[in-house]
Amino acid sequence: MTSFDDLYAANARFAKKFGNSGLTGRAGRGLAVVTCMDSRIDPLGLLGLKPGDAKILRNAGARVTDDVLRTLVLAVYLLGVERVLVMPHTDCGMAKVTDPDVYALTQERGVDTRSLEFHTVPDQNEALRHDLTRIRTSPFLPEGMPVAGAIYDVRTGLLTPAAF
Ligand SMILES: [Zn+2]
Repeated sequence: MTSFDDLYAANARFAKKFGNSGLTGRAGRGLAVVTCMDSRIDPLGLLGLKPGDAKILRNAGARVTDDVLRTLVLAVYLLGVERVLVMPHTDCGMAKVTDPDVYALTQERGVDTRSLEFHTVPDQNEALRHDLTRIRTSPFLPEGMPVAGAIYDVRTGLLTPAAF
């Protein structure tokens, strides 16, 4: 028994019914979505997408980090992405703590995380505006590429597009 047996068993059942779609790794709908790791978010379902349609980039807080930019560059030039939606959500854990809070919490467990930047979100609108600007002004991404932000409400399932 391992901690992952439930998953391997589920996968065996999944593979029995799996039909190879013949899809490539290109984003069929030309879309990349940057969203949070929150376990309540079903990015494909809530946007009416299916596997093969979009690149989904997830991290704590849906932040546009250096690694997200790196991945977007690859997604655009190699994998057919032509538009990007940044999608944070309501009730996000990252909006409830500050980096110093996280340092203190890990310190209680004897772990010093002060060399890490957690990109916590004191103001969700401000963070979204900042992250959209990071993509829009990146010298590595095509000028004028459609980039939008929208906040997903984990209680209603509705997206609210950002006005900026
Ligand atoms: Zn979150």
